[in-house]
Amino acid sequence: MTTRVYNFYPGPATLPLPALKKAQKDLLDFNGTGMSVMELSHRSKEYAKIHLEAKSLVRELMGVPDDYKVLWLQGGASTQFYMVPLNLQKNGKSMEYVNTGTWSKKAIKEAKFYGEVMVVASSEDENFSYIPKDIKFSDDAAFAHITGNNTIYGTEYHEWPKVPGNDPLACDMSSNIMDKVIDTKKFGVIYAGAQKNIGPAGVTLVIVREDLLDRVPENTPTMQKWKTHVEKDSLFNTGPCWAIYMCKLSFEHLKDLGGIPAIEKINRNKAKILYDIIDKSNGFYRGHAKPDSRSLMNVTFNLPTPELEEWCFKEASAKGLIGLKGHRSVGGMRASIYNAMPIEGVQVLAEFLKEFQEKNQ
Ligand SMILES: *Cc1c(COP(=O)(O)O)cnc(C)c1O
Repeated sequence: MTTRVYNFYPGPATLPLPALKKAQKDLLDFNGTGMSVMELSHRSKEYAKIHLEAKSLVRELMGVPDDYKVLWLQGGASTQFYMVPLNLQKNGKSMEYVNTGTWSKKAIKEAKFYGEVMVVASSEDENFSYIPKDIKFSDDAAFAHITGNNTIYGTEYHEWPKVPGNDPLACDMSSNIMDKVIDTKKFGVIYAGAQKNIGPAGVTLVIVREDLLDRVPENTPTMQKWKTHVEKDSLFNTGPCWAIYMCKLSFEHLKDLGGIPAIEKINRNKAKILYDIIDKSNGFYRGHAKPDSRSLMNVTFNLPTPELEEWCFKEASAKGLIGLKGHRSVGGMRASIYNAMPIEGVQVLAEFLKEFQEKNQ
């Protein structure tokens, strides 16, 4: 017997139970091959099918247009922090970033190795509790870059900033890829470490517009060019087959639920349940994010004292509500309620928080 808990870890994070069960069923013998997916050659016809299906599901679920390529890469979103500027740089053109927290800063740091970086907007003045408004990118940059959801601070873009001219917008969607319907055409590049919202650690999804592939300098190491991976359909070298397979299973589950429009509705309901608890707590729970910047995926809040926060975290853990400690740069609590977190888990957490307040205020 195993007992599943409600897992609120920020990443790696909870996965859909049907996907895990399917993986368990396939573990020793995938489709009559007598082998696990972990043991299949990445050049085998069985794996080729998984590889193709995973990519097709991304296209189908997100409505990715034909002139965009879908890639499975390694090195995490952190590797894309330098692959984005490396692949999109243009001589003499600045790279324009919005700084909305720790992950944006890390992306900015890497871009500086490739040339002039302009930070066109920032919310650092208020500990990244909001998404800046009226973001103005110039019409002559190499590219613009934003972090779609700020995992640590619990803020998310509700509207995408406009990029004038034809400059591509690059977006780190590691913690909100597929959390809501988006128009892929607004972006030049989307990238996401899988381990938050779509799968296990070990693979990074990159979606890139075809016309951007030729900017990369010739003398760039082969593995660092998106183009290499496009030409070989993400099979230039041995990819993370198992992680891609798990993503495929989670996409199948998402499709069964009704796709991204359906999960968006569920996500909005889940987030509302927790933000309502915060808003109706008479200040016992204080949300970190400003209401107009609140994330659907990471709900961040503080309690009146650090001691109460510690106690709340411990009591929650004892009740099987796991991973609620906030990141050290915000403190307090963080409930990561990704696509795979069922609404029941959020309801149990909400009940717990209500009772905790009654007992401790
Ligand atoms: C977790 C996270 C990252 C880092 O991802 P890795 O895959 O560990 O490199 C980058 N950006 C955001 C928004 C994240 O949440």
